[in-house]
Amino acid sequence: MQQPNQISPHVLIFPLPLQGPVNCMLKLAELLCLHQIHVTFLNTEHVQNRLRLHTDTETYFKKYEKCFSFRTVPDGLPEDNPRTGSQIPALLKGLDEVAVPLLREMVTSGELGTESERPLTCIIADGIFTFAVGIAREIGVTLLYFDTISPCGFWTYFCLPKLIEAGELPFKDDDLDVIIKNVPGMEGIIRRRDLPSFCRTKDLNDRIIQLVLKEDEHIPLAQGLIFNTFQELEAPVLAQMLNISPNIYAVGPLHTHAKTRLGEETGVLSERSSSIWKEDRTCISWLDAQPLKSVVYVSIGSLAVMTKDQLLEIWHGLVNSGSRFLWVRRPGSIEGLDDKFEIPLELSQGTKERGCIVDWAPQEEVLSHPSVGGFLTHSGWNSTLESIVEGKPMICWPYFVDQQVNSRYVEEVWKIGLDMKDTCERSIVEKKVREVMDLKKDVFWERARNMAQLAKESVSEGGSSFQDLNRLVEDIKSKYMPARPN
Ligand code: UDP
Repeated sequence: MQQPNQISPHVLIFPLPLQGPVNCMLKLAELLCLHQIHVTFLNTEHVQNRLRLHTDTETYFKKYEKCFSFRTVPDGLPEDNPRTGSQIPALLKGLDEVAVPLLREMVTSGELGTESERPLTCIIADGIFTFAVGIAREIGVTLLYFDTISPCGFWTYFCLPKLIEAGELPFKDDDLDVIIKNVPGMEGIIRRRDLPSFCRTKDLNDRIIQLVLKEDEHIPLAQGLIFNTFQELEAPVLAQMLNISPNIYAVGPLHTHAKTRLGEETGVLSERSSSIWKEDRTCISWLDAQPLKSVVYVSIGSLAVMTKDQLLEIWHGLVNSGSRFLWVRRPGSIEGLDDKFEIPLELSQGTKERGCIVDWAPQEEVLSHPSVGGFLTHSGWNSTLESIVEGKPMICWPYFVDQQVNSRYVEEVWKIGLDMKDTCERSIVEKKVREVMDLKKDVFWERARNMAQLAKESVSEGGSSFQDLNRLVEDIKSKYMPARPN
């Protein structure tokens, strides 16, 4: 057993077991390792198996073997569950029933327990994991919540009780263009349609609403909050967060932050995948053969789905726009597609001439490719940040949760793209693609380039995220260490 005066910082990181949160928590883990903080990364067996199958993540992290290890727990879902967006409540239930008891045992009497060789000193958990408050208290360690959605989206989640109390939720009628008044700092910016998708329910007992209200009660009980953003992007929202917690760490964009600091250490700025689908790299050689800024990259991320009708509308819109396109169609992401589906001739022809379709792409690399001129995105927060860093304007077609807020911010606040929310009619897709790729290309590119510059500066020496990461590291090493017995 370690002597009290030998206790060293040891963080347990537990992401929501989905592609986006796993991606950015792995980056945070690596940054902590670079600062000699020991990290145990808790994945579900499902995620870990897929990382093992499609990436070299386990081998890669062996380079930190003195301070990094993976642990796994089951997620409680059958292997054939698609784990798409609609399954998130079932996933949370499965974790509660199966993973949480195992975690509790692991950190109390088990291999990470107080009597173990290297007891935990801090837990960093996804903000939706309300159980983490009880576990951290039980073992007497610090809890930091890391909500990997956008802070602007998170802030609307947090204001849910206020919206309900003020009578703004549930909506009184079907007019989605009514301006929202009770989200401080967002007055005049967001309309009903820009609130997270779950706010459209008439029933406040809805499962997601109840989960978010529970999260809102637990978030302030953590000692600090970590966000994947940077001050220059979201200063007003981050200022509001200080009302929830005195310890706010804005350390993003994490993928660039990790790359930058690793580059300083090793001189190599390498791309590294933590994809839980197999990346099809043929799209990179296809991009190599396209003219500069000529391609719209299209992806709805790892959880969203679309109907066959929506697929056809977007497809017609893209082909009619005359733009080249690279389209990720994740297996299982189109509902109702069967063997009888016949591709209309004009679409197969247009795709043959100007398109490329893959199951899954190395997205960061795609977005940094000089042939890509815009991104038709579902506005997931990781995708949004990845696009911002590469200075690529966006056409947003949000699916759910924080994405409705993100897309509004892209158009209305940051002005680096267009929000196509609530429609994907072919004529609208065509119009928006033409605007971003052609008619208003110069103004979007200029703004996007400026924002990309700010993002990169924030993670460079002396930048806002760089400083917040240093503060987080110092706090984990000193302020958040458990009190030592005399
Ligand atoms: N992604 C990828 N290849 C693809 C599509 C997506 O690597 O073909 C990655 C993308 O880079 C991002 C993550 O998947 O890091 C998706 O996270 P996001 O928060 O954007 O959306 P979500 O999938 O959670 O809805």
